[in-house]
Amino acid sequence: MKRKTAWEKYDEQGRKGIYEFCEGYRQFISDCKTERECVDMLVAKAEANGYRNLAEVITKGKPLRAGDKVYAVNMNKMLALFHIGKDSFEDGMNILGAHIDSPRLDLKQNPLYEDTSLAMMDTHYYGGVKKYQWVARPMALHGVVAKKDGSVVNVSIGESFDEPVIGVSDLLIHLAAKQMEKKGALVVEGEDLNLLVGSIPLADEETEPVKAQILKLLEEKYGMEESDFHSAEFEAVPAGPARDYGLDASMLMGYGQDDRVCAYPSAEAIFALEDPRKTCVCLLVDKEEIGSVGATGMQSRFFENTVAEVMNCAGCYSELSLRRAMSRSRVLSSDVSAAFDPNYPSVMDKNNCAYFGMGLVFNKYTGARGKSGSNDANAEYIAKLRRILDAEEIRYQTSELGKVDQGGGGTIAYILANYGMEVIDSGIAVQNMHAPYEVTSKVDIYEARLAYEAFLREMV
Ligand code: MN
Ligand code: MN
Repeated sequence: MKRKTAWEKYDEQGRKGIYEFCEGYRQFISDCKTERECVDMLVAKAEANGYRNLAEVITKGKPLRAGDKVYAVNMNKMLALFHIGKDSFEDGMNILGAHIDSPRLDLKQNPLYEDTSLAMMDTHYYGGVKKYQWVARPMALHGVVAKKDGSVVNVSIGESFDEPVIGVSDLLIHLAAKQMEKKGALVVEGEDLNLLVGSIPLADEETEPVKAQILKLLEEKYGMEESDFHSAEFEAVPAGPARDYGLDASMLMGYGQDDRVCAYPSAEAIFALEDPRKTCVCLLVDKEEIGSVGATGMQSRFFENTVAEVMNCAGCYSELSLRRAMSRSRVLSSDVSAAFDPNYPSVMDKNNCAYFGMGLVFNKYTGARGKSGSNDANAEYIAKLRRILDAEEIRYQTSELGKVDQGGGGTIAYILANYGMEVIDSGIAVQNMHAPYEVTSKVDIYEARLAYEAFLREMV
């Protein structure tokens, strides 16, 4: 089945609209490099779009009605946006899901040490990475320090050009003969991903003076002492903004596009919605890259509990009503797909893979080794989606993650499907997935934004 690219849908004016929308996205991923930063930014945008904090609605005992908009935040790392519809909750919700955590190097709890008059920081990588990709490049440090007095300090160093960057060194090619013979997984090993952060000794300090100098700097700038690392969350991420990519600037290159490239248009789609028929939800979760575990991952009860609270505020909560609302819901579980790459054609089945420029990607199933671990979306549900998108000439494609038995991957889809919801994996094609700089096509981001809004508005 041969399709034209989505670019061909648009004249010059239309392309301008795509570039404008993607400029907003480019700024978003340049400014928001951690799950916490994504939540902070999107809460601010939600409030500007008339969303109220659910916690305040509960405290004030104000009822929720059709047309009301509320948001709920879980531990500053997970966000649920609700736009209450005209229909009963028991008819189910239209839910957009995506994740806002991305692969990176997390600082260990005792990170700072001195070696040969250099101050170093020890890391533990987060998510699946090719470790050799994360060396010899400028990195920024983002995170929070939670202090014993209850205060929390935000930290961001290395993003603006007047701030220093840090990084992990690589072995010079001249001395790398042995290293170059190693298997790719061992060329750079996890325990060796140590950041170089300083080299000036503190005057009159006898023991570890360079480390002491860094501690003094952290004390001055953030009021933190060494033991505060124990209650800190620091993420080392590629420094600097995302960039237009390609001589025609038709693509974007930037860190953390898995899965913020789905999260951003999902949030923008629900913000643009007017008077929805069904209650619409945008659910942005943490911890997908490490198995959706923990209190802020999709496997936690946060979403179910939040729906219960929203229904209670809308005066329609009961255990049975909640179960009906959950089981009758419809979901686009959005996560990135592997884009076909002419440099690596051998891992793809050309008839069943995602391509740049062909629009939103539907993965009926993901999984590995005979679809194991996948959510296999229902044919009837996919037919409904086709009807909605075709009616508005929104471009989409279907894909698998690589050839059969080539590998595989998981998403949050199966967890929502456990409630009995209709769920399909959908998302945007990415090159260089999980590399420090990932690449996406602007027209795909735009088509996804259109598809998400059409889904929220029209799916019944
Ligand atoms: Mn993902
Ligand atoms: Mn991923």
